[in-house]
Amino acid sequence: MKIHEYQAKAILHDFGVPVPFGHPATTPELAEKIAEKITGRVVVKAQIHAGGRGKGGGVRLAEDASEAKKIAGELLGQKLVTPQTGPEGSLVRQVLVERALEIHRELYLAITLDRETASQVVMASAAGGVDIEELAHLHPQKIHRFFIDTALGLRPFYVRRMAHALKIGKQLLPSFLQVASNLYSTFIARDCSLVEVNPLVVTGDHRLVALDAKILIDDNSLFRQPEIEAMRDPEEEDSLEREAMESHLSYIRLEGNIGCMVNGAGLAMATMDMIQHVGGAPANFLDVGGAADVERIEKAFRILMGDSRVRGVLINIFGGIVRCDRVAEGVVEAAAKLKMVLPIVVRLEGTNVKEGRAIFRKSKLAIETASDMLEAATKIVRSVQEAS
Ligand code: GDP
Ligand code: MN
Repeated sequence: MKIHEYQAKAILHDFGVPVPFGHPATTPELAEKIAEKITGRVVVKAQIHAGGRGKGGGVRLAEDASEAKKIAGELLGQKLVTPQTGPEGSLVRQVLVERALEIHRELYLAITLDRETASQVVMASAAGGVDIEELAHLHPQKIHRFFIDTALGLRPFYVRRMAHALKIGKQLLPSFLQVASNLYSTFIARDCSLVEVNPLVVTGDHRLVALDAKILIDDNSLFRQPEIEAMRDPEEEDSLEREAMESHLSYIRLEGNIGCMVNGAGLAMATMDMIQHVGGAPANFLDVGGAADVERIEKAFRILMGDSRVRGVLINIFGGIVRCDRVAEGVVEAAAKLKMVLPIVVRLEGTNVKEGRAIFRKSKLAIETASDMLEAATKIVRSVQEAS
Protein backbone atom coordinates (compact mmCIF):
# COMPACT_ATOMS: atom_id res chain seq x y z
CA MET A 1 0.00 0.00 0.00
CA LYS A 2 1.16 3.50 -0.79
CA ILE A 3 0.82 6.45 1.56
CA HIS A 4 1.43 10.17 1.11
CA GLU A 5 4.68 11.96 1.85
CA TYR A 6 3.22 13.78 4.87
CA GLN A 7 2.04 10.47 6.33
CA ALA A 8 5.41 8.82 5.72
CA LYS A 9 7.08 11.78 7.43
CA ALA A 10 4.77 11.48 10.43
CA ILE A 11 5.81 7.84 10.78
CA LEU A 12 9.51 8.69 10.43
CA HIS A 13 9.11 11.48 12.98
CA ASP A 14 7.63 8.95 15.45
CA PHE A 15 10.73 6.83 14.96
CA GLY A 16 13.07 9.73 15.63
CA VAL A 17 14.06 10.68 12.08
CA PRO A 18 14.32 14.48 11.72
CA VAL A 19 11.80 15.90 9.22
CA PRO A 20 10.99 19.55 8.43
CA PHE A 21 8.18 21.14 10.44
CA GLY A 22 4.96 21.26 8.46
CA HIS A 23 1.32 20.28 7.98
CA PRO A 24 -0.93 19.16 5.14
CA ALA A 25 -3.64 21.49 3.81
CA THR A 26 -6.67 21.00 1.60
CA THR A 27 -7.38 24.69 1.00
CA PRO A 28 -5.21 27.73 0.12
CA GLU A 29 -6.47 29.45 3.29
CA LEU A 30 -5.25 26.62 5.48
CA ALA A 31 -1.94 26.57 3.61
CA GLU A 32 -1.57 30.27 4.39
CA LYS A 33 -2.30 29.71 8.09
CA ILE A 34 0.32 26.98 8.32
CA ALA A 35 2.85 29.17 6.53
CA GLU A 36 2.10 32.06 8.94
CA LYS A 37 2.86 29.78 11.85
CA ILE A 38 6.14 28.70 10.26
CA THR A 39 7.24 32.26 9.38
CA GLY A 40 9.88 32.80 6.72
CA ARG A 41 10.33 30.73 3.58
CA VAL A 42 8.16 27.66 3.13
CA VAL A 43 7.90 24.93 0.55
CA VAL A 44 4.50 23.86 -0.81
CA LYS A 45 4.41 20.26 -1.99
CA ALA A 46 1.67 18.48 -3.92
CA GLN A 47 0.60 15.27 -2.16
CA ILE A 48 -0.02 12.56 -4.73
CA HIS A 49 0.92 8.90 -4.77
CA ALA A 50 3.64 9.46 -7.36
CA GLY A 51 7.14 10.84 -7.33
CA GLY A 52 8.98 13.15 -9.66
CA ARG A 53 6.93 16.06 -8.36
CA GLY A 54 9.90 18.40 -8.34
CA LYS A 55 10.30 17.94 -12.07
CA GLY A 56 6.58 18.36 -12.66
CA GLY A 57 6.33 21.68 -10.78
CA GLY A 58 4.68 20.12 -7.75
CA VAL A 59 7.31 21.29 -5.23
CA ARG A 60 7.50 25.07 -4.97
CA LEU A 61 9.20 27.53 -2.68
CA ALA A 62 7.28 30.50 -1.27
CA GLU A 63 8.85 33.58 0.34
CA ASP A 64 5.94 34.19 2.70
CA ALA A 65 2.46 33.07 3.71
CA SER A 66 0.61 34.96 0.99
CA GLU A 67 2.78 33.41 -1.71
CA ALA A 68 2.20 29.99 -0.10
CA LYS A 69 -1.53 30.63 -0.36
CA LYS A 70 -1.20 31.57 -4.01
CA ILE A 71 0.88 28.47 -4.86
CA ALA A 72 -1.48 26.19 -2.92
CA GLY A 73 -4.34 27.72 -4.92
CA GLU A 74 -2.54 26.87 -8.13
CA LEU A 75 -1.74 23.30 -7.13
CA LEU A 76 -4.96 22.25 -5.40
CA GLY A 77 -7.62 20.93 -7.71
CA GLN A 78 -5.18 20.70 -10.63
CA LYS A 79 -3.85 17.61 -12.32
CA LEU A 80 -0.12 17.35 -11.81
CA VAL A 81 1.87 15.60 -14.51
CA THR A 82 5.21 14.15 -13.43
CA PRO A 83 7.52 11.56 -15.02
CA GLN A 84 5.75 8.98 -12.84
CA THR A 85 2.06 9.86 -13.26
CA GLY A 86 1.68 9.21 -16.97
CA PRO A 87 0.38 11.91 -19.34
CA GLU A 88 -3.07 12.09 -17.72
CA GLY A 89 -1.55 13.33 -14.44
CA SER A 90 -2.84 13.00 -10.89
CA LEU A 91 -5.37 15.28 -9.19
CA VAL A 92 -3.87 17.23 -6.27
CA ARG A 93 -6.23 17.18 -3.29
CA GLN A 94 -3.75 18.12 -0.58
CA VAL A 95 -0.51 20.03 -0.28
CA LEU A 96 2.14 19.79 2.41
CA VAL A 97 3.35 23.15 3.70
CA GLU A 98 6.77 22.93 5.32
CA ARG A 99 9.53 25.15 6.60
CA ALA A 100 12.02 25.51 3.76
CA LEU A 101 15.55 24.41 4.45
CA GLU A 102 18.87 25.60 3.19
CA ILE A 103 20.37 22.62 1.41
CA HIS A 104 24.07 21.94 1.57
CA ARG A 105 24.07 18.35 0.19
CA GLU A 106 21.41 15.97 -1.15
CA LEU A 107 21.94 12.30 -0.29
CA TYR A 108 19.90 9.22 -1.14
CA LEU A 109 19.13 6.54 1.43
CA ALA A 110 16.62 3.70 1.04
CA ILE A 111 15.85 0.30 2.51
CA THR A 112 14.06 -2.39 0.58
CA LEU A 113 14.02 -6.15 0.06
CA ASP A 114 16.34 -7.93 -2.33
CA ARG A 115 14.78 -11.07 -3.73
CA GLU A 116 17.98 -12.50 -5.15
CA THR A 117 19.88 -12.55 -1.88
CA ALA A 118 16.70 -12.88 0.19
CA SER A 119 17.89 -10.11 2.44
CA GLN A 120 17.27 -6.48 3.17
CA VAL A 121 19.29 -4.04 1.17
CA VAL A 122 20.22 -0.48 1.98
CA MET A 123 20.86 1.70 -1.05
CA ALA A 124 22.86 4.85 -0.53
CA SER A 125 24.20 7.53 -2.81
CA ALA A 126 26.05 10.78 -2.38
CA ALA A 127 24.18 12.07 -5.44
CA GLY A 128 20.60 12.19 -4.15
CA GLY A 129 17.85 14.45 -5.47
CA VAL A 130 15.51 14.62 -8.41
CA ASP A 131 17.86 12.87 -10.88
CA ILE A 132 18.26 9.60 -8.98
CA GLU A 133 16.46 7.50 -11.64
CA GLU A 134 18.78 8.84 -14.31
CA LEU A 135 21.77 8.19 -12.07
CA ALA A 136 20.67 4.60 -11.45
CA HIS A 137 20.45 4.18 -15.20
CA LEU A 138 23.62 5.94 -16.34
CA HIS A 139 25.95 5.48 -13.35
CA PRO A 140 24.65 2.53 -11.34
CA GLN A 141 27.98 2.26 -9.54
CA LYS A 142 27.20 5.56 -7.81
CA ILE A 143 24.41 3.86 -5.88
CA HIS A 144 25.99 1.72 -3.20
CA ARG A 145 24.24 -1.42 -2.03
CA PHE A 146 24.63 -2.90 1.42
CA PHE A 147 23.07 -6.30 1.95
CA ILE A 148 21.96 -6.74 5.52
CA ASP A 149 22.19 -10.06 7.27
CA THR A 150 18.66 -10.13 8.65
CA ALA A 151 19.76 -12.14 11.67
CA LEU A 152 22.15 -9.36 12.64
CA GLY A 153 19.96 -6.44 11.66
CA LEU A 154 21.50 -3.10 10.78
CA ARG A 155 24.69 -3.19 12.88
CA PRO A 156 26.77 -0.02 13.34
CA PHE A 157 29.58 -1.39 11.16
CA TYR A 158 27.23 -1.43 8.19
CA VAL A 159 26.26 2.17 8.84
CA ARG A 160 29.90 3.27 9.11
CA ARG A 161 30.53 1.74 5.69
CA MET A 162 27.58 3.70 4.34
CA ALA A 163 28.82 6.89 5.95
CA HIS A 164 32.17 6.33 4.28
CA ALA A 165 30.55 5.79 0.87
CA LEU A 166 28.49 8.97 1.33
CA LYS A 167 31.52 10.97 2.53
CA ILE A 168 29.81 11.80 5.80
CA GLY A 169 32.34 13.62 7.96
CA LYS A 170 33.13 12.91 11.63
CA GLN A 171 30.88 15.71 12.80
CA LEU A 172 27.77 14.23 11.20
CA LEU A 173 28.56 10.58 11.86
CA PRO A 174 26.57 10.27 15.12
CA SER A 175 23.43 11.75 13.52
CA PHE A 176 23.89 9.57 10.45
CA LEU A 177 24.09 6.47 12.68
CA GLN A 178 20.88 7.61 14.36
CA VAL A 179 19.02 8.33 11.12
CA ALA A 180 20.03 5.07 9.46
CA SER A 181 19.16 2.96 12.46
CA ASN A 182 15.82 4.75 12.94
CA LEU A 183 14.95 4.22 9.28
CA TYR A 184 15.73 0.55 9.71
CA SER A 185 13.55 0.33 12.85
CA THR A 186 10.72 1.92 10.87
CA PHE A 187 11.20 -0.56 8.06
CA ILE A 188 10.96 -3.54 10.44
CA ALA A 189 8.31 -2.29 12.86
CA ARG A 190 5.94 -1.03 10.17
CA ASP A 191 6.27 -4.02 7.81
CA CYS A 192 7.55 -1.86 4.98
CA SER A 193 8.60 -3.09 1.58
CA LEU A 194 10.32 0.25 0.97
CA VAL A 195 11.51 3.17 3.04
CA GLU A 196 13.12 5.77 0.82
CA VAL A 197 14.47 9.18 1.72
CA ASN A 198 15.41 11.19 -1.34
CA PRO A 199 16.86 13.58 -0.63
CA LEU A 200 18.26 13.12 2.83
CA VAL A 201 19.77 16.56 3.14
CA VAL A 202 22.68 18.04 5.00
CA THR A 203 21.37 21.48 5.88
CA GLY A 204 23.29 24.74 5.86
CA ASP A 205 23.55 24.42 9.66
CA HIS A 206 24.95 20.86 9.45
CA ARG A 207 21.92 18.80 10.34
CA LEU A 208 20.59 15.70 8.60
CA VAL A 209 16.92 16.03 7.65
CA ALA A 210 14.60 13.79 5.61
CA LEU A 211 13.39 16.30 3.05
CA ASP A 212 11.24 13.76 1.22
CA ALA A 213 9.93 10.36 2.29
CA LYS A 214 8.35 7.44 0.51
CA ILE A 215 7.06 4.39 2.35
CA LEU A 216 5.41 1.30 0.90
CA ILE A 217 3.70 -1.13 3.25
CA ASP A 218 3.29 -4.84 2.63
CA ASP A 219 -0.48 -5.29 2.09
CA ASN A 220 -0.39 -8.64 3.86
CA SER A 221 0.62 -6.93 7.10
CA LEU A 222 -2.19 -4.40 7.20
CA PHE A 223 -4.18 -6.51 9.66
CA ARG A 224 -1.54 -5.72 12.28
CA GLN A 225 -0.85 -2.13 11.15
CA PRO A 226 -4.21 -0.47 11.87
CA GLU A 227 -2.68 3.01 12.05
CA ILE A 228 -1.28 2.61 8.57
CA GLU A 229 -4.44 1.01 7.22
CA ALA A 230 -6.20 4.19 8.39
CA MET A 231 -3.86 6.22 6.15
CA ARG A 232 -5.28 4.62 3.04
CA ASP A 233 -6.33 7.23 0.49
CA PRO A 234 -8.87 5.45 -1.73
CA GLU A 235 -9.05 8.39 -4.13
CA GLU A 236 -5.41 7.85 -5.08
CA GLU A 237 -5.95 4.18 -5.86
CA ASP A 238 -7.14 2.57 -9.06
CA SER A 239 -10.94 2.50 -8.72
CA LEU A 240 -11.27 -1.00 -10.17
CA GLU A 241 -8.59 -2.38 -7.86
CA ARG A 242 -10.36 -0.73 -4.94
CA GLU A 243 -13.70 -2.24 -5.91
CA ALA A 244 -12.05 -5.65 -6.25
CA MET A 245 -10.44 -5.32 -2.84
CA GLU A 246 -13.77 -4.44 -1.25
CA SER A 247 -15.23 -7.63 -2.75
CA HIS A 248 -12.17 -9.63 -1.63
CA LEU A 249 -11.19 -10.42 -5.20
CA SER A 250 -7.56 -10.39 -6.08
CA TYR A 251 -7.30 -8.16 -9.11
CA ILE A 252 -4.35 -6.28 -10.54
CA ARG A 253 -4.69 -4.05 -13.54
CA LEU A 254 -2.08 -4.41 -16.28
CA GLU A 255 -1.38 -2.71 -19.59
CA GLY A 256 -2.80 -5.16 -22.13
CA ASN A 257 -6.24 -5.65 -23.70
CA ILE A 258 -7.25 -9.23 -22.92
CA GLY A 259 -9.28 -9.51 -19.74
CA CYS A 260 -8.60 -12.68 -17.76
CA MET A 261 -10.88 -14.41 -15.31
CA VAL A 262 -9.27 -17.37 -13.62
CA ASN A 263 -9.58 -19.30 -10.38
CA GLY A 264 -6.37 -19.77 -8.44
CA ALA A 265 -3.34 -17.49 -8.48
CA GLY A 266 -1.06 -20.05 -10.10
CA LEU A 267 -3.48 -20.78 -12.90
CA ALA A 268 -4.02 -17.04 -13.35
CA MET A 269 -0.30 -16.46 -13.80
CA ALA A 270 0.01 -19.42 -16.16
CA THR A 271 -2.87 -18.00 -18.19
CA MET A 272 -1.18 -14.61 -18.44
CA ASP A 273 2.04 -16.29 -19.53
CA MET A 274 0.16 -18.24 -22.17
CA ILE A 275 -1.44 -15.08 -23.56
CA GLN A 276 1.99 -13.45 -23.81
CA HIS A 277 3.39 -16.61 -25.36
CA VAL A 278 0.96 -16.45 -28.26
CA GLY A 279 1.59 -12.76 -28.85
CA GLY A 280 -1.15 -11.09 -26.78
CA ALA A 281 -1.12 -8.91 -23.68
CA PRO A 282 -3.24 -9.53 -20.57
CA ALA A 283 -5.27 -6.59 -19.26
CA ASN A 284 -5.28 -7.87 -15.73
CA PHE A 285 -4.57 -10.55 -13.19
CA LEU A 286 -7.82 -11.77 -11.66
CA ASP A 287 -8.19 -14.65 -9.26
CA VAL A 288 -11.85 -15.23 -8.40
CA GLY A 289 -10.82 -17.69 -5.70
CA GLY A 290 -12.10 -21.09 -4.79
CA ALA A 291 -15.39 -20.11 -3.18
CA ALA A 292 -16.77 -18.19 -6.14
CA ASP A 293 -20.55 -18.06 -6.27
CA VAL A 294 -22.71 -16.53 -8.98
CA GLU A 295 -22.61 -13.05 -7.41
CA ARG A 296 -18.86 -13.10 -7.04
CA ILE A 297 -18.34 -14.22 -10.62
CA GLU A 298 -20.70 -11.51 -11.75
CA LYS A 299 -18.85 -8.93 -9.69
CA ALA A 300 -15.51 -10.11 -11.08
CA PHE A 301 -16.83 -9.93 -14.60
CA ARG A 302 -18.07 -6.39 -14.05
CA ILE A 303 -14.72 -5.26 -12.69
CA LEU A 304 -12.98 -6.85 -15.64
CA MET A 305 -15.27 -5.07 -18.09
CA GLY A 306 -14.90 -1.78 -16.20
CA ASP A 307 -11.49 -1.46 -17.86
CA SER A 308 -12.14 0.32 -21.14
CA ARG A 309 -8.99 -1.15 -22.69
CA VAL A 310 -10.39 -4.70 -22.58
CA ARG A 311 -11.09 -5.98 -26.10
CA GLY A 312 -11.76 -9.63 -25.32
CA VAL A 313 -12.08 -11.97 -22.35
CA LEU A 314 -10.44 -15.26 -21.57
CA ILE A 315 -12.13 -17.33 -18.89
CA ASN A 316 -10.01 -20.17 -17.61
CA ILE A 317 -11.61 -22.13 -14.80
CA PHE A 318 -10.58 -25.36 -13.23
CA GLY A 319 -13.57 -26.53 -11.24
CA GLY A 320 -12.24 -27.92 -8.00
CA ILE A 321 -13.99 -26.33 -5.08
CA VAL A 322 -15.81 -23.96 -7.38
CA ARG A 323 -18.23 -25.69 -9.74
CA CYS A 324 -18.10 -25.01 -13.48
CA ASP A 325 -21.89 -24.60 -13.75
CA ARG A 326 -21.85 -21.84 -11.14
CA VAL A 327 -19.15 -20.02 -13.01
CA ALA A 328 -21.07 -20.39 -16.26
CA GLU A 329 -24.24 -19.02 -14.66
CA GLY A 330 -22.39 -16.04 -13.24
CA VAL A 331 -20.70 -15.22 -16.52
CA VAL A 332 -23.88 -15.57 -18.58
CA GLU A 333 -25.86 -13.39 -16.20
CA ALA A 334 -23.21 -10.71 -16.01
CA ALA A 335 -22.60 -10.72 -19.77
CA ALA A 336 -26.31 -10.33 -20.44
CA LYS A 337 -26.68 -7.49 -17.93
CA LEU A 338 -23.64 -5.71 -19.35
CA LYS A 339 -24.85 -6.27 -22.92
CA MET A 340 -21.49 -7.80 -23.65
CA VAL A 341 -20.42 -7.71 -27.30
CA LEU A 342 -16.71 -8.46 -27.01
CA PRO A 343 -15.33 -11.90 -27.89
CA ILE A 344 -15.18 -14.39 -25.03
CA VAL A 345 -13.23 -17.64 -24.99
CA VAL A 346 -13.88 -20.13 -22.23
CA ARG A 347 -11.83 -23.06 -21.11
CA LEU A 348 -13.65 -25.06 -18.44
CA GLU A 349 -12.46 -28.22 -16.80
CA GLY A 350 -13.33 -30.12 -13.64
CA THR A 351 -16.39 -30.42 -11.43
CA ASN A 352 -19.70 -30.13 -13.33
CA VAL A 353 -17.93 -29.24 -16.55
CA LYS A 354 -20.72 -30.73 -18.72
CA GLU A 355 -23.39 -28.69 -16.98
CA GLY A 356 -21.21 -25.62 -17.31
CA ARG A 357 -20.65 -26.05 -21.01
CA ALA A 358 -24.37 -26.66 -21.51
CA ILE A 359 -25.18 -23.34 -19.84
CA PHE A 360 -22.83 -21.53 -22.21
CA ARG A 361 -24.28 -23.32 -25.25
CA LYS A 362 -27.84 -22.43 -24.30
CA SER A 363 -26.97 -18.78 -23.78
CA LYS A 364 -27.17 -16.47 -26.76
CA LEU A 365 -23.71 -15.13 -26.14
CA ALA A 366 -21.02 -15.43 -28.78
CA ILE A 367 -18.79 -17.60 -26.64
CA GLU A 368 -16.07 -19.78 -28.11
CA THR A 369 -14.87 -22.74 -26.13
CA ALA A 370 -11.43 -24.31 -25.92
CA SER A 371 -10.25 -27.59 -24.52
CA ASP A 372 -6.88 -26.47 -23.22
CA MET A 373 -5.04 -23.31 -22.24
CA LEU A 374 -2.95 -22.97 -25.36
CA GLU A 375 -6.00 -23.26 -27.59
CA ALA A 376 -7.89 -20.80 -25.42
CA ALA A 377 -5.09 -18.23 -25.50
CA THR A 378 -4.59 -18.64 -29.24
CA LYS A 379 -8.31 -18.18 -29.95
CA ILE A 380 -8.77 -15.06 -27.84
CA VAL A 381 -5.62 -13.40 -29.16
CA ARG A 382 -6.73 -14.10 -32.73
CA SER A 383 -10.28 -12.81 -32.13
CA VAL A 384 -8.98 -9.61 -30.57
CA GLN A 385 -6.51 -9.05 -33.39
CA GLU A 386 -9.17 -9.66 -36.03
CA ALA A 387 -11.60 -7.28 -34.34
CA SER A 388 -9.12 -4.40 -34.25
P1 GDP B 1 10.03 14.68 -5.61
O1 GDP B 1 10.54 15.41 -6.81
O2 GDP B 1 8.62 14.21 -5.78
O3 GDP B 1 10.95 13.58 -5.20
O4 GDP B 1 9.97 15.75 -4.41
P2 GDP B 1 11.07 16.17 -3.31
O5 GDP B 1 10.38 16.33 -2.03
O6 GDP B 1 12.22 15.22 -3.30
O7 GDP B 1 11.55 17.60 -3.79
C1 GDP B 1 12.22 17.78 -5.01
C2 GDP B 1 13.35 18.77 -4.86
O8 GDP B 1 12.87 20.01 -4.43
C3 GDP B 1 14.39 18.38 -3.84
O9 GDP B 1 15.35 17.48 -4.35
C4 GDP B 1 15.01 19.72 -3.50
O10 GDP B 1 16.04 20.03 -4.41
C5 GDP B 1 13.85 20.69 -3.69
N1 GDP B 1 13.35 21.08 -2.36
C6 GDP B 1 12.39 20.47 -1.66
N2 GDP B 1 12.23 21.06 -0.44
C7 GDP B 1 13.14 22.06 -0.39
C8 GDP B 1 13.51 23.02 0.61
O11 GDP B 1 13.00 23.08 1.71
N3 GDP B 1 14.51 23.91 0.27
C9 GDP B 1 15.13 23.87 -0.94
N4 GDP B 1 16.09 24.76 -1.18
N5 GDP B 1 14.82 22.96 -1.88
C10 GDP B 1 13.84 22.07 -1.62
MN1 MN C 1 12.13 13.07 -3.66
